[in-house]
Amino acid sequence: MTVKKTKHAMPEQEPKERIKNFKEVPYGYDEETAIEEAKRCLQCKNKPCMEGCPVEIDIPCFIKYIAEGDFDKAAEIIKAKNSLPAVSGRVCPYEEQCEGVCTIKKIGEPVGIGRLERFIADYERKKGVKNPRKVKSTGNKAAIIGAGPAGLTCAGDLAKMGHEVTVFEAFHAPGGVLMYGIPEFRLPKEIVKAEVEYIKKLGVEIKYDVVVGKTISTEELLDKYDAVFVGTGAGLPRFLNIPGENLDGIYSANEFLTRVNMMKAYKFPEYDTPIKIGDIVATFGAGNVAMDSARTALRLGAKKSYIIYRRSDVEMPARDEEIEHGKEEGIIFKLLTNPIRFIGDDKGRLKQVVCIKMKLGEPDESGRRRPIPISDSEEVIDIDTAIIAIGQNPNPLIPQTMKGLKIEKWGNIATDKNGRTNIPGLFAGGDIATGAATVILAMGAGKRAARAMDEYMRSKKLKTNISKKHKVLAY
Ligand code: FAD
Repeated sequence: MTVKKTKHAMPEQEPKERIKNFKEVPYGYDEETAIEEAKRCLQCKNKPCMEGCPVEIDIPCFIKYIAEGDFDKAAEIIKAKNSLPAVSGRVCPYEEQCEGVCTIKKIGEPVGIGRLERFIADYERKKGVKNPRKVKSTGNKAAIIGAGPAGLTCAGDLAKMGHEVTVFEAFHAPGGVLMYGIPEFRLPKEIVKAEVEYIKKLGVEIKYDVVVGKTISTEELLDKYDAVFVGTGAGLPRFLNIPGENLDGIYSANEFLTRVNMMKAYKFPEYDTPIKIGDIVATFGAGNVAMDSARTALRLGAKKSYIIYRRSDVEMPARDEEIEHGKEEGIIFKLLTNPIRFIGDDKGRLKQVVCIKMKLGEPDESGRRRPIPISDSEEVIDIDTAIIAIGQNPNPLIPQTMKGLKIEKWGNIATDKNGRTNIPGLFAGGDIATGAATVILAMGAGKRAARAMDEYMRSKKLKTNISKKHKVLAY
């Protein structure tokens, strides 16, 4: 049997059209294409793709069912391990995970595992997701802090094990970065909402507008619940720390995207959210957050949208697909270029940025080649808006307010590989423990922590029961 060497293409909106709207860019596979793509899978005995999946989906098995046209069974296999498949099927960096180790890569492109996962998740949602089976209650109560992918995965898995789960979320909506960070054209909010509904159907309760560390303390939660998971993410923006950074017109990517997503500036004029971007926008950084910001600026009407990055295209951390989409949409990439100061007008509004050219030296501690400034290479660029997207640190509130909690160098919570912190009953995972990473890694961390919490709560109960029994016998 000969295998098609390239993935089946996924149809998408034309670049000229899509920069005028916030609708999702790719349309997804139809049934016929999904079956054809699934038939490219070699059904390897050693399943390397599964080792590359942090949430442990039986990938060859669900693909086999797609190839046979049994989409319901494929959905069952995915859902057994992953409660957010329409999300991971859209934003997961498969190229570094399951697809990165696919056997067919030896002769061509890997199987489009992400595209197939998305196809099944969309098929199931359109058809109407089946209500999950009720599980016998263990009587244990778990609290989850943060309704991002780490917290939601942990909550869903604990509920499937029969524990009573309550999620405490600071915002008025669930999803974390899925909702307030990643734009509508990459991950429609309706899809996140639908996946959260499924988690609620598992029995999970979500309480909104609760800022743990302010509204209620972590200690109080530890008193009231048998185990607590912290999944509060990395939403603390880093800045360039250069002169002029406080000028009017300079946003952190976090603020910019939150205004667009959570405060619905993307639905202008229906929602009159204040966001002023002018004609020329420069985004600093080249990760997913930067690509999202630069592409959002175009959709909000910027005539020019720059990505300004101090390294070369080889080191850009964003997913290849996002970079490609950005290029198609007309984002201007100014690489090996570093800002050194912002210049404002007499009203304190941003009008220019001064940059210098860089060259690459030896690799630094991140493994990427170190950027070195080239002297006398200053360049002044006219801009109205700057978006700083050079990374985020863990949210500091819980690390700062929970007494005795062990914290690492960058403010992240120290855990073992199963999310145990140094405080009994307190677990953590996702960006708050690893620093800013990916959706699937956060989900994997939530999953491992759920198992460790289950074990902790069961053994705690066993100990309590044994000591009660001893007391009765002694009496
Ligand atoms: P978060 O998603 O940050 O969720 C944390 C939740 O905790 C939030 O809802 C927050 O409101 C809540 N919270 C915080 N503090 C408190 C408190 N004190 N009390 C109660 N609740 C609290 N990853 C990918 O894999 N692919 C991508 O394409 C991708 N694109 C991205 C684009 C953007 C713009 C951003 C910002 C990130 C992107 N990422 C991407 C990274 C990914 O989104 C994160 O790694 C992931 O969301 C981390 O999940 P989390 O659950 O740990 O944290």
